[in-house]
Amino acid sequence: MTVSWRDRLIILGRHLLAGAQHLIYPGCCLLCGQPLCAGQTHFCSLCRHELFTDREATCPRCAGAIGPFTVTDGRCPACQKEAFAFEHVLRLGRYEGLLREVVLRLKSQRGEGLAELLGECWAKEAAERFAALHVDVLVPVPLHWRRRWQRGYNQSAALGGGLAACLGIPSQPSWLRRVRHTPQQTSRPTPAERKANVRGAFRARPGAPLAGRSILLVDDVMTTGATAHEAARALRTAGADRVIVAVLARAQG
Ligand SMILES: [Zn+2]
Ligand SMILES: [Zn+2]
Repeated sequence: MTVSWRDRLIILGRHLLAGAQHLIYPGCCLLCGQPLCAGQTHFCSLCRHELFTDREATCPRCAGAIGPFTVTDGRCPACQKEAFAFEHVLRLGRYEGLLREVVLRLKSQRGEGLAELLGECWAKEAAERFAALHVDVLVPVPLHWRRRWQRGYNQSAALGGGLAACLGIPSQPSWLRRVRHTPQQTSRPTPAERKANVRGAFRARPGAPLAGRSILLVDDVMTTGATAHEAARALRTAGADRVIVAVLARAQG
C-alpha cells in the first residue's frame, strides 16, 4: 500500500518532535535518567535490554507465557476454549518490572512523546516479526472521549503512531470508536466480568474502508483479551479480513 502525502507529513512531524525531545533531555536515558554513552540514543543499554528482550516463550495466539510443549494447534491451555476475533497477539513483554513502570507512566502523565518513541523502537527491534504479519493498516484501541479528555491523549494511538511510521503503514485512529464509557477493566476481577464490561463497547466508523483489510490493532496492556476481542469483533463485523493484536505489555493473573 502506498503512503499518502498526508501520512508522510505526519511521519515527518513525528521525527521533528522526537528530535525536539532529545534537545530537551540531552544525553540522558529517558527511563532511568543515567547519562548515555556514545552511540546510545534515548535509552541506556540496560533499559533498552530490559525493555526489548522478552525472556519468556509465549503462546502465538494470546501471547501468554507458556511452558515447554504446551501449545497444541497454535493454542495454549489458557486460550484453547476462547473464540477470539483476532488471529495472533504480539507483545513487547510481560507486564512487570520496567515495562510496567513505563505503562503506568504513559497512563499517568502526558507521555505522548515517550509512547511514540517506544512504538518506533519496537518496530525497529522486531522488524522481521512485524513484516511477517502482512498487515496493511494500523488501528489503535480507542479511549472513550471522556477518558481521553481526562488523560489528554490516547496512549495506544501515540504508540500506534510510532509503530505505523516505522512500519510504513497508515495509522487510522478514527476507524474505530468506543461508543460506550466502561469502568476500567482492572475494577472487574474475573474474566466473565471483563467480557461483560466491554461487550458492545466498540463500533467501526460508518464508511471506514475496512473490507478485505489486514489490521494491526494496537493497545498498551492486555490481560484476558476481552477488550482486544471486542475491538477486533467490531472491525471484523465491518468487513476486516484479519486482525492481529500488538500489545506493549501482557498481564497475567
Ligand atoms: Zn536507562
Ligand atoms: Zn494462548
